[in-house]
Amino acid sequence: MAGRRIDPAGLAGFAAALGDVEVVRRYATKVVRVPGSDCLWWTGAVSGRGHGRFWFADGRCIVAHRFAFGLQRGVQELEDARVLGHRCDNPLCQRVAPGHVVVSSAQENRREWAHRKEVAGSPLGDPRGARRRARALRDMARRDPREVAAELDRLRRLYGEQMQLPLG
Ligand SMILES: [Zn+2]
Repeated sequence: MAGRRIDPAGLAGFAAALGDVEVVRRYATKVVRVPGSDCLWWTGAVSGRGHGRFWFADGRCIVAHRFAFGLQRGVQELEDARVLGHRCDNPLCQRVAPGHVVVSSAQENRREWAHRKEVAGSPLGDPRGARRRARALRDMARRDPREVAAELDRLRRLYGEQMQLPLG
């Protein structure tokens, strides 16, 4: 979510969750690999924008790839980063790495999105919209990651989609 700060109590709760092996294990069970894709695919709840949602404590929810970022880089870096972007244009992706989930800014995210949406073959151009696309792919990833691989193949043939587009 763009630029939303976590209050100090929330931050402490989040830090505790990152250090809780049970919570981390629960998070990890919701992430799968898809053959032929470099992304790490979220199979849990999905938000209106197609992002993963992860309940790290009772009534406490965070955007799933922000949890991934916190796991890898720590709470302070997450707090400093504010805005994360998906260079792979896959809002379900949990992979914190160049080309996938990266530190961004609201302005940069908007600029990249507007640019890439217009590029032929962008997953952002899916006529279903981000949420319906993410939910459909999430359902498949949950049932069988090979279904996602087959669907990505189909989308490549149908729309000429490419998972990695130039940044422009
Ligand atoms: Zn990715």
